[in-house]
This record gives sequence, C-alpha cells and structure tokens, in this order.
Amino acid sequence: MNQNLTTDRQTFVTHLECSITGEQYEADQLHGLSRAGRPLLVRYDLDAVRSSVSRDTIEARPTDLWRWRELLPVRHTANIVSLGEIETPLVPLTKSGGPNVLVKDEGRLPTGSFKARGLVMAVAMAKELGVTKIAMPTNGNAGAALAAYATRCGIETIVFCPDDTPEINVREIAMQGARVWRVNGLIDDCGAIVGKGAAEGRWFDFSTLKEPYRIEGKKTMGLELAAQFGWKLPDAIFYPTGGGTGLIGMWKAFDELEKLGWIGSERPKMFAVQASGCAPIVRAFEAGEEHAERWEDASTVAAGIRVPKAVGDFLILRAVRESGGQALAVGDPAILKAVDAAAKQDGLLLCPEGGATLAAYHQALNTGLVDEDDKVVLFNCATGLKYPMPEAPQALDRTRPIDFDAL
Ligand SMILES: *Cc1c(COP(=O)(O)O)cnc(C)c1O
Repeated sequence: MNQNLTTDRQTFVTHLECSITGEQYEADQLHGLSRAGRPLLVRYDLDAVRSSVSRDTIEARPTDLWRWRELLPVRHTANIVSLGEIETPLVPLTKSGGPNVLVKDEGRLPTGSFKARGLVMAVAMAKELGVTKIAMPTNGNAGAALAAYATRCGIETIVFCPDDTPEINVREIAMQGARVWRVNGLIDDCGAIVGKGAAEGRWFDFSTLKEPYRIEGKKTMGLELAAQFGWKLPDAIFYPTGGGTGLIGMWKAFDELEKLGWIGSERPKMFAVQASGCAPIVRAFEAGEEHAERWEDASTVAAGIRVPKAVGDFLILRAVRESGGQALAVGDPAILKAVDAAAKQDGLLLCPEGGATLAAYHQALNTGLVDEDDKVVLFNCATGLKYPMPEAPQALDRTRPIDFDAL
C-alpha cells in the first residue's frame, strides 16, 4: 500500500469561500456553486499546515499526489479511492520545442489524462459527504476519470457527452461502469441536462467547477511543479484551457505555497491556450472584459478544450492578467503540425490539446512574449494514444521476394 495513504493524516480545511463575493460556507457539508452562482474555493489553516509539515517532510515522502495530503480536502484516508496517482514527469522537448522547453506529461496518470487529479479528489469528497449518484457533462476525459473512480467506490454515475466525442472516450466511460449518453449538442448543452436533473434531486451535479473539490485535485499540478523545480517556478506555463480548472488550481497552489513560505513571490507568466475555433477566453482577454461570453458554433480537433462557456471565466482571466501572461488562440492546422513535430522529432506523442500548447509556445516566441532562455512548461493533459492517428498502411508479403533496400 502507498505509504502516503497508510496514516490517517490530519487535514486543515477551515471553510469554503465564494470566488466572487468572498461569502463563507461551512466545510464538511455538500456544496455546489455559491449563492451567487460562482465556484466555491476551499480555504485552509495555512499557519497550522506550516507548523505541521515542512518542505523537507514532503520531500521525504513517496512522490505521488498524496504526499500533499495536508493541502488537500479529504479528512478520512479511508474515503480515498486511488488508482495510483503518480507525480508526472517533465519531459524535455528539445527539437520541436527548444532547449528550455519541458512537457509535463499528464498522460501517465490513471485513465490517461489529468482529469484523474480532479476526479480522484472530487469523488473522495463525494464519498465522504454521502453522495450516491453523480451526473456529469464531458468532452471525454473527465467522464472517463469519473467513471473509473466512482465505480471503484460504488457511486452510480451518468455521463452526457457531445455525440462527436472521440469514440474511445465514450467506450472507456461505458467500460468503466458508467451509463453514458451521446447528446446532439455541445458540452454546455449536456451541462443543461445535468443541471435540470440535479434541480429535480435526481443526482449530484459534477460539472467543472460546480463542485468545489476538482480544483483542489488539479492544484497538485502547481504543487508538483514547485517541488520539481526546487521550490522555484518556471518562467512561463502554457495551459490548454477549456473550463480552466488546472490553471485556476495552479494559481491557487502558488498562492498557498507562498503563504506557507515555501516559494517566493515570483510567478510564471500563465498562458491560457485555446483553439481558434473556440476561443471565448482569448476574445474576452483581448477586449479587456472580466467575463467571457459564450462562443457560438465551437469547433476544433482538440475536444478537451471545446468549451464554449466556462463558469470560472473570471478566475482564468484574473490569473492570466495578474501573471503578466496572455490568452492565445491557435488554429487546428497548427495544432496538428505541432503534434506531428513532437512525435516525429522528439518521440513524444502529444494529445491535440498538448499540441496546442506547443503551437502557442512558438507563436509566443515569434511575437516576443517569451524568449528562448525562458524556462517553459507545456501541459500535455492526456496520452496521445487516445486520439486518432494518421494511417500507416504499408504491408509486406513474406511469401514473395523482399526488396530490403526499399524498406
Ligand atoms: C479537460 C481537458 C483540457 C482542459 O482542461 P481544463 O482544466 O478544463 O481547462 C485540456 N486537455 C485535455 C486533454 C483535457 O481532457
């Protein structure tokens, strides 16, 4: 058994807080959005954390997600349903990226995507708070992670996805014990169905940011980066942004780490990367708006970031602006070219969303937003193996003479 999970270590949650009004909510109770209809953020007694653990204590533990236990919301270890949430590696992308480009390869996590980080936490909290039935809208990976963790602890799940969700995602969701429905609409249309059922008391709504704990799971990406960079942070982070949970979570992680005195006040420039065919955050960023309007007729090969409307829009925009970063859009041809380059030149198979960050990095380099000396982290959020690849049709007839020179 994982050493980080063998002790019933104390946690330090004090309360939850509305991300827009600051209104406080009690911990240890089931919450969705705040009364203002905005995401709730989990707050901790960081002074107590500081006197309970140090950076050295953390570093002495096995390197997985659960080494951060004191900064996570689950009270009782028995409620954690783990599938082996490892610390993901930073892989240099020297040729297709550059000398200072690292890919945080989240495709190594259970269910093949970083949705595992958010869902392992949210499901543990659902279990802790007595939830027995969950519904969720998904573009694929979130539904797969939910299905895996919820099934493992006996929570019933119903998942709704756009009917053009990658086939492998729909099948893995079904295979891992959820009921999955293909809907003739986009993810927010699926979200409307989930919301209606939740309002009727049929299930608990697990939409992105509509329950408070996925952010806490995603926060571990920021915690991990700090430890992997020796308690400093990279100069820039490129994050493929749909609902933005990871970007918001990392920004929260950096804030908590600074309050603990474990890192300084320097921050990476945060780049929210979207596809040109669905770029509501980019449009709002460029217009100087605090919120982003729905993007009509959203379309891109990068299914995970095809999110026309995000409830945490203002949190994404705030983090990007405070960091001195930018929201960037890249077209599907640039995304596919980047995936191809990383695979053919560096042997790393990115998902399309990961390809988008590589394309955005080159765009930022060309326009002077970053330079070659900057230490840069690109997020590859799922294994490239989940996505369609170009055909490789060559076949050899072993019963005929073989032209070895032509192989
Ligand atoms: C969900 C997803 C994203 C977007 O993540 P958010 O935190 O919701 O913005 C990016 N890439 C992949 C592969 C995803 O599954």
